[in-house]
Amino acid sequence: MATLVESTKLPRIHQTECLIGGRWTPAVSGKTFETINPATEEVIAQVAEGDAADIDLAVKAARHALEQGPWGRMDARERGRLLYKLADLIEEELNELAALETLDNGKPIRDSRAADLPLVIDCLRYYAGFADKIHGQTIPVRGEYFTYTRREPVGVAGQIIPWNFPMLMVAWKWGPALAAGCTIVMKPAEQTPLTCLRMARLAQKAGIPDGVINIVPGYGPTAGAALVKHPGVDKIAFTGEYRTAQIIMQDAAPTLKRLTFELGGKSPNVVFADADLDAAAMGAHFGLYFNQGQCCCAGSRLFIEDKVHDKFVDKLVGMNKARKLGDPLDPATEQGPQVDQAQFDKIMGYIDRGKKEGAKCLTGGKRHGDRGYFIEPTLFGEVRDEMAIAKDEIFGPVLSVLRFKDVDEIVRRANNTTYGLAAAVWTRDIAKAHRLAAAIKAGTVWINCYDVFDAAAPFGGFKMSGMGRELGEKGLDAYTETKTVTVSLN
Ligand code: ADP
Repeated sequence: MATLVESTKLPRIHQTECLIGGRWTPAVSGKTFETINPATEEVIAQVAEGDAADIDLAVKAARHALEQGPWGRMDARERGRLLYKLADLIEEELNELAALETLDNGKPIRDSRAADLPLVIDCLRYYAGFADKIHGQTIPVRGEYFTYTRREPVGVAGQIIPWNFPMLMVAWKWGPALAAGCTIVMKPAEQTPLTCLRMARLAQKAGIPDGVINIVPGYGPTAGAALVKHPGVDKIAFTGEYRTAQIIMQDAAPTLKRLTFELGGKSPNVVFADADLDAAAMGAHFGLYFNQGQCCCAGSRLFIEDKVHDKFVDKLVGMNKARKLGDPLDPATEQGPQVDQAQFDKIMGYIDRGKKEGAKCLTGGKRHGDRGYFIEPTLFGEVRDEMAIAKDEIFGPVLSVLRFKDVDEIVRRANNTTYGLAAAVWTRDIAKAHRLAAAIKAGTVWINCYDVFDAAAPFGGFKMSGMGRELGEKGLDAYTETKTVTVSLN
């Protein structure tokens, strides 16, 4: 079959340098790093490798733009207009940006086009509409005083993002920060810097003033840590692993930075015998294998009620066998490669462990092809709660199936995890569904659906899955400080 690679031109790579104060510059050290196409293991481009020196320049540029530039004086409504403009420019380049995302990350082009890009555009438009609607309160206090609150931008926001949804993570971070009037220093993931840099170019084209958005590509322990430690940064928004968040919390302690974290999960997906089993099977399949299983909210613990267990598993096996793996630029492809060698090795390690611990490998379990980081959709049956594949976040196409008998048991087992990002319940019994939604400790609970995201719906974790919320009106909290002003009326 002719692939997009052959039939259409590959996206051009325009931006590979740091963006600091409106200027594209190489790293101060002159160093670069390679970004790899995970489908072919070939180098796509050399990208500037920023570190502490570049971060320092970027933070100064962001501070200057906040305090001396036009941004700080701009009408809130005008800030909103620039965000709408950015969304429009992204929409105009949708196909090219989707291809660039697929090239750098490996996700199927059908997903980049139909899921990532539309969500990016929607998120920016949602927050564009909020820019002129962030306001304080007038508050009745005792005595002859007039008290009101102002919601001011938190200041310079440091934003560190992962590689699984590169552009969408940019939108989730820029949308609320810019609506609130903050300025930004962003460090994209080292695996996938290209679309973030391209979006920054479009932000310039939209007319967002110099220094409002600064991008420093580079590695976590160097560029990322320097951003966290920098005294000129007011807030860190981080999405990634909980272990990295623990390091960030320590690094942020001396300057007591505001922190928001969106971390991992081991989300329970609970199927009752009274559910629409075809819909539930599709939801279970999509809820785990979407994006090669590289979703923080992946439904990786699939609990199936005993009575329907065997026939439900048969449906899953059928879907896995039919799943089309291959060139992610081919519009027919449903599953692409994992993002890099390190992720590939980690996932294969868990598959080995699952087999050794006695789980039954029902589909997959092996590498697909001999080039690129492809892993077959893997399904483990007879999984027990104490096995590593039932406890650890694998972040790959590996689904663990567990059995259960009754509602009380399932609540206890679903909550028996250090994580609490998402969960789903499939049942036709509406009371049971809502009882479980209340009992499961997770930031998001889906009932008879999975992975339904909307810019207006807050997202984030209980327990070790995060701190604070992104999206929705709630998502603005992290980017504003409340100031109380009290006036004597005497
Ligand atoms: P993943 O395993 O998904 O790559 P990480 O938490 O390692 O998750 O990475 C998410 C982001 O955090 C990336 O941009 C990475 O470079 C960055 N990062 C990694 N280590 C640190 C660190 N010590 N300080 C700040 N950022 C870091």
